Amino acid sequence: MRPTHYRLLFVSLLSFLIVVMATCYALPGEARVLKRGMRGSDVSSLQEMLADLGYDVMVDGVFGSETENLIKEIQEALGLVADGIVGQQTTAMLRELQDGVFHHTVQRGDNLTKLANRYDTTVSNISNYNGLQNPDRLLPGQVLYIPTGSMAVLSRSLNTKLSMQWPVKGRISSGYGYRIHPVLKTRHFHGGIDIAVAEGTPISAAASGKVIKVGNLGNYGLAVVLEHAGGITTWYGHNSKVTVRLGESVKQGQIIAMSGRSGLATGPHLDFRIKIGDQTVDPLEWLP
Ligand SMILES: [Zn+2]
Repeated sequence: MRPTHYRLLFVSLLSFLIVVMATCYALPGEARVLKRGMRGSDVSSLQEMLADLGYDVMVDGVFGSETENLIKEIQEALGLVADGIVGQQTTAMLRELQDGVFHHTVQRGDNLTKLANRYDTTVSNISNYNGLQNPDRLLPGQVLYIPTGSMAVLSRSLNTKLSMQWPVKGRISSGYGYRIHPVLKTRHFHGGIDIAVAEGTPISAAASGKVIKVGNLGNYGLAVVLEHAGGITTWYGHNSKVTVRLGESVKQGQIIAMSGRSGLATGPHLDFRIKIGDQTVDPLEWLP
């Protein structure tokens, strides 16, 4: 090759490199679209966000079928295309869920009652938050900010209104959400509420259903799990005795176990959980 050819080759390579680098760095804030099979810190961030929202998800930076199924479930609940792919729209919705404030673009046929139902809030809540002068008149394209509890949105969207009653009365020694584990001393998500009661206190079914699990569930101790309508399950952990059998149908209020401190517990209490599918919800939002 002649020197001019070398120069040409060098210039071409340099231009190519500049284009590649420009593509990589021009949009530093632009997130990549996440889908099944991907790995990386952005996948970890997504999983952390899901964990924040109350899902039992492993934060391992791998977008596997578990993560994909959760995304589909959320997309479906929010009226998005349930393709399991996390693009701009899904990310925005997840952020809003996390913040507890949705922004909704008014569609033809929307009214405040409909929106209040959809987002599990009240007409006056939406009206006040947006300072609406004339709440009866919404214009298509108008953007409304809707304050709401994230879990309430999801449970509402999943069409489950099941009436529950307290499985036992007692002091709530630990609530739902992040906490420092009393035994392990590490920060983790507590997927239920702990109700402190004396050993041997009768525990009753929060709603009518079928016994789908009975036995020792590791840290959760001697447990009973009931399945109810709408894919809802209720979980009762740390018991000293179980008084129902697998497959048995139980009525709301029926005694299913005696409290205790089996599994990883510092004292006798009931760890009560409610799940919709794989997702835990705050029992206090469901109990009267
Ligand atoms: Zn607990």
